[in-house]
Amino acid sequence: MAYDPNNVFARILRGEIPCKKVYEDDFALAFHDIAPQAPVHVLVIPKGAYVSWDDFSKTAPDAEIGGFIRAVGAVARQLGLDEPGYRLLANTGRDGGQEVPHFHIHLFGGRVLGRMVA
Ligand code: C5P
Repeated sequence: MAYDPNNVFARILRGEIPCKKVYEDDFALAFHDIAPQAPVHVLVIPKGAYVSWDDFSKTAPDAEIGGFIRAVGAVARQLGLDEPGYRLLANTGRDGGQEVPHFHIHLFGGRVLGRMVA
């Protein structure tokens, strides 16, 4: 699937749509999900144009992958979740239930989370 430069997260990255930002660095932007599923529900997105986890893991330069993964950890620590813990999720493609075609990681926390149900 080709990257759609007008997807909602691309527009957030360009500042065309507002977001409740929690973190930003050279590799990533993190903001609160508009429909939170947990007391803390943050989305972490790479600054580069990647459709999905599959696209990102296959085509992103190592420096971007490393920078992004470090950013996800930094977001969790900034939110004070490193000690109680948290959950990361990347819906990928049709069967994974991905709705927005810009790669993103969901970060959930703030309570004891339920068991994963596929
Ligand atoms: O992983 P998936 O693509 O299904 O999730 C997209 C997420 O983006 C949803 O949790 C939705 O609430 C969130 N969203 C958002 N701000 C928007 C559009 C979608 O936080 N403007």
